[in-house]
Amino acid sequence: MTNSRKAAVGHYHGHDHHDHDASDCRHPPGLTRNESLVWDVLNDNVDPLKAYEILDELKERGVRAPMTVYRALEGLEEKGIVHKLEGLNSYVLCKHAGPHDVQVFLVCETCASATEVEIEGVEAALRPVIRRAAFQLKTARLEARGLCAGCANPAPQP
Ligand SMILES: [Zn+2]
Ligand SMILES: [Zn+2]
Repeated sequence: MTNSRKAAVGHYHGHDHHDHDASDCRHPPGLTRNESLVWDVLNDNVDPLKAYEILDELKERGVRAPMTVYRALEGLEEKGIVHKLEGLNSYVLCKHAGPHDVQVFLVCETCASATEVEIEGVEAALRPVIRRAAFQLKTARLEARGLCAGCANPAPQP
């Protein structure tokens, strides 16, 4: 049921589709139908996507309302499956096994890629500060902005 959906995509960079025949089996458990659709789109893309880009991809699959996408993204975010990058106003699948409230991303300002990294030190430093303030942490997200290796050192053109 998913094989005809890629015909009209032209504007994503680096949009390279391999066969994802097994994609329906790889959904995290407990997703609604719309959340599964959004998950598919995010899983097919390495780079973070904006909500309207996700909607564009899903139009072929019968999703027309932006609210549908926003609600699915909200649900996925609450489940800890998707992270929202405020700086890029984009969404990306979590690379980790479970929900985690401290998140660190390296965001490239040139190609808008975002690499999720694990820095235990950040969490270790943050915890006591939060505890001392009796603060109830929901999310701590660090978006380190700059240039990714590929953009900082572009391969020389022959
Ligand atoms: Zn994550
Ligand atoms: Zn880059």
